[in-house]
Amino acid sequence: MAQSERKESDMIFPREVLIGNGYISRAYELCSRLKLGNRALIICGTVTRDIAGKNVADMLSDKGYSCELMIEGRATQESAERVGEVAKDFDFIMGIGGGSKIDLAKMGAHIADIPFISIPTTASHDGIASPRASIKKNGSSLSVEASAPIAIIADTGIVAKAPYRLLASGCADLIAKRSSVKDWELANRLKDEPFSSFAAALAMLACNTILENADAIKEGLEESAWIVLKSLVLSGVSMSIAGSSRPASGAEHLFAHALDTIAPGKALHGEECGVGTIIALYLHGEDWKIIREALKKIKAPVTAKELGVKDEDIIEALVKAHTMRSDRYTILGEGISRGAAEKAAKITGVIA
Ligand SMILES: [Zn+2]
Repeated sequence: MAQSERKESDMIFPREVLIGNGYISRAYELCSRLKLGNRALIICGTVTRDIAGKNVADMLSDKGYSCELMIEGRATQESAERVGEVAKDFDFIMGIGGGSKIDLAKMGAHIADIPFISIPTTASHDGIASPRASIKKNGSSLSVEASAPIAIIADTGIVAKAPYRLLASGCADLIAKRSSVKDWELANRLKDEPFSSFAAALAMLACNTILENADAIKEGLEESAWIVLKSLVLSGVSMSIAGSSRPASGAEHLFAHALDTIAPGKALHGEECGVGTIIALYLHGEDWKIIREALKKIKAPVTAKELGVKDEDIIEALVKAHTMRSDRYTILGEGISRGAAEKAAKITGVIA
């Protein structure tokens, strides 16, 4: 169905996206081409320092850059502010890691108003290329405005060696675009919310690439890392075009955020979104079974048990989901009743 669109938009894209085997070795070449200055702040964790951080710092130092490795843990408001303060003495930031290090780097870049290069070492979610950061505050995750990366380097050799569960979670976060785009269309029709067919098409392309390749995504296969990274970048760019996380985050994400507060630390973000997508599509009256099948092929969770949470947690998360973000209209509308939530979770096989 055609959606109404405003005839204006601000789009910020990454200037270079390098994805390939051994591509971490191209960090210096990229930095010198982008001419960002020679003071680099590198955000990583203890593990990603050994995987790639130290390597990148040495490579740049050898070429005359002044580099500082900043080892960080979780992405909290305090740590983001700390990174932002330190970043004021640098020309650009590189975030090297899975989720939190990239979130901190993009927040720090936003605070210090300097460019940010995203160097993902896993492919577990689409924050690697998006202008939004997920920050932990009082036990729950907040999506906050941050800087979009000026460039992305993703080394498929490194990403393929990360635990397979992370890659499967990244796939589930991409499959989630099936329901988030439906929610966006609904909000456009019902609430006259601005819609971009360009952003929606990119998000759907990212999702469909995973659905079409579900049989080929396997543990230890570098080809799988390539497919998922490419799609995560597409999804991130769709958010840059939309100027918000709208194309990539609907009811399934609200459900995931709610479940995170009810049963923290049990499942990965993408895993929760995958299960949320099954239920959200059922509520939309769409084909949820093909989503469930694709998630099963990829070996991502499709039930409460596989997520490591109780059936009751799923129902509670569904009932609570619409309160997670009042400005995000989805198929959950003003809220789903307890009875309807239980029925939806049972019919889709998420709970027993
Ligand atoms: Zn997500």
